[in-house]
Amino acid sequence: MLASALVAAAALTAARTAGPVHAARSLPPLVVVDPGHGGKDGGAMHGGVREEAINLEAARALAAALKARGYRVLLTRDIGCREAVAAAAGTDMAADRDCRVNLRDRVLRAAYRRASVFLSVHCDHYVLPSVHGPRTYYGRGSELQRELAVSVQRQLDAFRDRPFRPMASDHFVLLAQPQVPAVTVELGFLTNPRERRLLSTAAYRRQLAEAVARGVDDFARVHPLMPPPSVDVAGVEHLWQVARGRAHAAARGGAGGGA
Ligand SMILES: [Zn+2]
Repeated sequence: MLASALVAAAALTAARTAGPVHAARSLPPLVVVDPGHGGKDGGAMHGGVREEAINLEAARALAAALKARGYRVLLTRDIGCREAVAAAAGTDMAADRDCRVNLRDRVLRAAYRRASVFLSVHCDHYVLPSVHGPRTYYGRGSELQRELAVSVQRQLDAFRDRPFRPMASDHFVLLAQPQVPAVTVELGFLTNPRERRLLSTAAYRRQLAEAVARGVDDFARVHPLMPPPSVDVAGVEHLWQVARGRAHAAARGGAGGGA
């Protein structure tokens, strides 16, 4: 089942010699890739595998696949939990006891950098270990997000014996900007032993990353990627500064008064 899926995925890759959809633009569109969880929030944990670590490695592979296709890419975090805790020691980041890149900051960062596409990368879990396969989620009520989810899921279905339908969700804070083509990609189920093993390998993550990148290309063919016009950059930057100011103030915590 998987072998045929991989062959199918490889055939798709070979069949496509996708030139960048955005070749004519002076600045390539920016894809923000968000490795789910981080800091002390490890996400799901099964069979000794931490979700946040898989998410980060998969997000790095996705960033590489997208860059190879000519996109600019920004990762919302680029270090894992343990590294984050170590890096925060003795810095103002230590103010955030979780060392956690919080969701709100991620959204702001994405908006501020004027993301053309926002991809949050996660792994799923479920009570039934037999449930498996990558699945894409979009914010309920956003047609743009639904279309991106359909494009990505169509590519990811090669990794499954039968297609999944993308799911509308109200639960992902990061999908709350309907004007931004944003989706959450659950790469597979850590509760399925076979998929957990696969997700732990760089080769499988690379194949998933290529599939997601192809999905973005497919979407961009129909919807030429533009920075979202309705983002109020000055307003977002102000919020961003306020949030940072708060973190810095907390870092000095109680030390009282400076300037
Ligand atoms: Zn997650």
